[in-house]
Amino acid sequence: MSRLFYVIGNPIEHSLSPVIHAAFAQKTGLDIFYEKRLFDVKDFAGQLRRLLASEPVCGANVTVPFKREAYQVCTTISERARLAGAVNTLSFQKDGGVFGDNTDGIGFVNDLKRLYGGKLSEARVLLLGAGGAARGLLAVLPTCVRAVTVANRTEAKAFDLAAAFGVCASSLEDAKNGTWEIVVNATSASLSGAVPAVDPGVFARSQLCYDLMYARTATPFMQAAQSAGCPNVYDGLGMLVEQAAESFQLWNEIRPPVESVLAALRAPH
Ligand code: NDP
Repeated sequence: MSRLFYVIGNPIEHSLSPVIHAAFAQKTGLDIFYEKRLFDVKDFAGQLRRLLASEPVCGANVTVPFKREAYQVCTTISERARLAGAVNTLSFQKDGGVFGDNTDGIGFVNDLKRLYGGKLSEARVLLLGAGGAARGLLAVLPTCVRAVTVANRTEAKAFDLAAAFGVCASSLEDAKNGTWEIVVNATSASLSGAVPAVDPGVFARSQLCYDLMYARTATPFMQAAQSAGCPNVYDGLGMLVEQAAESFQLWNEIRPPVESVLAALRAPH
């Protein structure tokens, strides 16, 4: 019988995770069933309890807006999930225990390692945003790079987050005076066609700009970075596949191939 997995969110229709996990399963020869599951925004824990009572689910990915609620239902969590305060990967154990992990940060770093030509440990990173995705990145990123500075539209959130993770903070306005090799957009601004209000000179002086959002065409942030002259501009599809690979490995104890699955997703169809 296939091992059963879900990705839970609201909305969930747009999720590419079933396609990614099906490709991983095909390439590793494993028999898994992985599908989307829409949960009502109210009572994540209750809906999860009923799902587990009715189906033999091995694991689940959790996406917007449930990563905090997923954290609450865990009986044990990884250190990086504890730091992030959010869980995107649940493993259901035979004794009823629930292990929670957060693979967003390591997924992002793995993608960055592939994309950044320089020495990542020497790079300074400007992290735009102070929401859930920024927290996930901060649970892993500071140990992999030279320095991280957080900047956010609501300034106080950036300063609070930076203090919690022992990194620097800046206002978006003051960022115009700084230089960072890597600029990361961990805001949801691209969803509304907006770009965080950073001086274009910040993009121009950087080596790499990365939008966590992904789309068939360049996001508004990617367009702004390209127009300013940043030589390397990427979306977050690689991070999505990398974080999925981490979850797949955790559940199935086998590392799936990332490059070929990512290339297939990027191919025009
Ligand atoms: P949250 O809602 O938790 O946080 C949103 C953040 O974006 C806040 O810092 C908010 O600032 C900022 N923001 C929103 N609109 C604007 C704007 N117009 N200008 C400037 N800042 C803005 O979202 P998440 O952190 O969960 O997600 C952020 C993004 O990351 C999403 O696009 C999501 O799709 C993407 N993501 C991608 C992943 C991947 O695998 N590629 C994984 C996880 C997330 P303020 O505090 O001022 O409101």
